[in-house]
Amino acid sequence: MVVVKGLADVGVGVVGCSMRAGIELGGTKTVVAIGTAEGVVEEEWRFPTTTGEETMAAAIGWLRERGVVEKIGVGAFGPLGVNRGRGSYGCLLDTPKAGWAGFSIVGALGDAFPGAGVEIETDVNAAVLAEARLGAARGLEDVVYITIGTGIGAGILSGGRLVHGGLHPEFGHLKVPRMEGDGFVGLCPFHGDCLEGMASGPAIAARWGMPGHELGVDHAGWETEAWYLAHGVLALLAIVSPKRVIIGGGVSQAEGFHAKTEALLGKLAAGYFPNLLETPYVVPPALGQQAGIVGALML
Ligand code: ZN
Repeated sequence: MVVVKGLADVGVGVVGCSMRAGIELGGTKTVVAIGTAEGVVEEEWRFPTTTGEETMAAAIGWLRERGVVEKIGVGAFGPLGVNRGRGSYGCLLDTPKAGWAGFSIVGALGDAFPGAGVEIETDVNAAVLAEARLGAARGLEDVVYITIGTGIGAGILSGGRLVHGGLHPEFGHLKVPRMEGDGFVGLCPFHGDCLEGMASGPAIAARWGMPGHELGVDHAGWETEAWYLAHGVLALLAIVSPKRVIIGGGVSQAEGFHAKTEALLGKLAAGYFPNLLETPYVVPPALGQQAGIVGALML
């Protein structure tokens, strides 16, 4: 590893020598790594996410042992302040996760590494960046990365830029048409039957009495799941016009899920969006578990 102690204020001439760190903060696990702007992970450490203070202290301690950090990219769960210049920038907003509401990730990193450049994004935005540069949407500038797990979220790359809006996209809370004959009430505490309420991992478990990975490949549950996701993707297609949609997260690993969703999307699109819906359109991630940390390094 290149030793960079003492180079912190030397400037752009030594960019190649600066130590770059990435942190992926997930609801259950955290990954901290050092590596390159191209997304090469040189060394990483995974550990369980606890409170904001404990988790960040652990990550900072690990990085300090490795030298002087000059650039830090963070991909974090949300809701998260991602707009610079606002008081909430770099802070977790109102989250039920214990010890995180109001916690400033950027503040903790700024105190630990004064002068280091810190960039923070949602975990899904970090993942879409990594997949667009190195993974399943390599070379494309208009890409969406959807994750289906405990919740549903999406990171949007549009014209090569990560989309924020006033907060950041909350794709999971999109209202989707109910599948005919579907009497499930939905699990979202705010909206009941929004996309997340109808199709997240916990929704599948509540609906069918078993988690997604236990449903057989031919279980009717996958038709239901593809129905809701295809409607969600149709909305993305109509609004942000992605060239490819990546669906990751635990639930998406079921065999044939992407093809099923893409086929249904084709029917729903009904011949519209002629230059967009080119196969393969709905695809699994290529970087798997690494997308988040690779994207964080790239930030
Ligand atoms: Zn909702």
